[in-house]
Amino acid sequence: KAKELGKNQFILFEQEMADANQRVLELKEDCLVAITEHQFFLLYQPQVDSNDGRIVGAEALLRWAHPRRGLVSPVEFIPLLEAADLMHIVGQFVLREAIAQAAHWRDAASIDDRFKLSINVSPQQFRHENFTQLVRGIVTEQGIDANMIDLEITEGMIIDDIDHTVASMNALRTFGLHFSIDDFGTGYSNLNYLKQLPLDTLKVDQSFVRNIPHDPNDTAIVRTILAMAAQLNLNTVAEGVETQAQLALLRDMGCHVFQGYLYSPPVMPAEFEQLLNNQPKGPTESL
Ligand code: C2E
Ligand code: MG
Ligand code: MG
Ligand code: MG
Repeated sequence: KAKELGKNQFILFEQEMADANQRVLELKEDCLVAITEHQFFLLYQPQVDSNDGRIVGAEALLRWAHPRRGLVSPVEFIPLLEAADLMHIVGQFVLREAIAQAAHWRDAASIDDRFKLSINVSPQQFRHENFTQLVRGIVTEQGIDANMIDLEITEGMIIDDIDHTVASMNALRTFGLHFSIDDFGTGYSNLNYLKQLPLDTLKVDQSFVRNIPHDPNDTAIVRTILAMAAQLNLNTVAEGVETQAQLALLRDMGCHVFQGYLYSPPVMPAEFEQLLNNQPKGPTESL
C-alpha cells in the first residue's frame, strides 16, 4: 500500500500520524494532570416540577478549567477524550464527585423526597466491564440510597451493544438506580429497543423544545413524544426550556418537569444550595 503512494505523500502521511499520536499523548497527559490538579468540576442545573415549583432533580454537567485554553465546553473535550479512550477515567471522577454531592444534599433540610441527581454516562464508560461494580461501589461508599441517582444514557449507546446495555441496566436497576434516556428523538429512535430497556424517564431534546410553540412541526413532534412516554409509563423532562410560552405549552401537553435557563442555568454547588433554600416550601415542611 505504501508503494502506491508517492514518496512525499507517504512522508506526509507518516507526519500526520505522528502528529495525531502526539496530540493524543498530549491530551492524555493534560487529562491526567487535570484530574490530580482538580481542573475538572461539575455544575448543577435544577429540574423543577411546574405544579408546585419544587426542585425535584438536578443534572450534573462537567466543565474543564484548562490552564491554557480556559474554560472548555464538554461538547469540545468529551469527543476527544472518547476517541483517546480516556473518557472512562474522567467519567469515574464525575460519578464520585456527583454522588458525594448527592450525599451532601440529602442531608440538606430543603431537599425534596422526589429529588434525584442525574449523571451523564458516556458510551465508553458504560461499555467498561466493571461499570456496574464501580457505580455500586461508589453509592455504597457514600452511604446514599441508590434511588437518589439517575443515569442518563443516549440512544446511540443502546444500538451499540443492546445485550450488554440491557444486562448492565438491569443489574443497576435491581440495585435501585434510575435511568433516563437523554436527547430523546435525536438518535436512532428504535422503539423496539426502547421497550426492552428498564427506563424511568425520557428527556425531550432541546432541539425540539427550542422552536415551540411557533413551529408546528416541532410542536407535533413534542406532543407525540410526550403521548408515547405517557403510554409507556415513562416520566418526562423537557430540556432547554427558556420561555414561559414553551413551559405553558409543555404543561398543556402533559410534561411537568422542566430544565432550562427559564428557571436556572447550570450553577456551582453553593449557588444550587441557595436555589434549594429559596424554593417554595414542600407539603411536609409547611405542616
Ligand atoms: P446534555 O446532557 O443534553 O445537557 C444539557 C445541555 O443543555 C447542557 O450543556 C446545558 O448547559 C444546556 N442547557 C440547559 N438549559 C439550557 C437552555 O435553556 N438553553 C440552552 N441553549 N441550553 C441549555 P453543556 O453543559 O454544555 O453539556 C453539553 C453536553 O455535554 C451534555 O448534553 C452531555 O451530552 C455532555 N456532558 C456534560 N457533562 C457530561 C458528563 O459529566 N459526562 C458525559 N458523558 N457527558 C457530559
Ligand atoms: Mg444529559
Ligand atoms: Mg440532554
Ligand atoms: Mg442535549
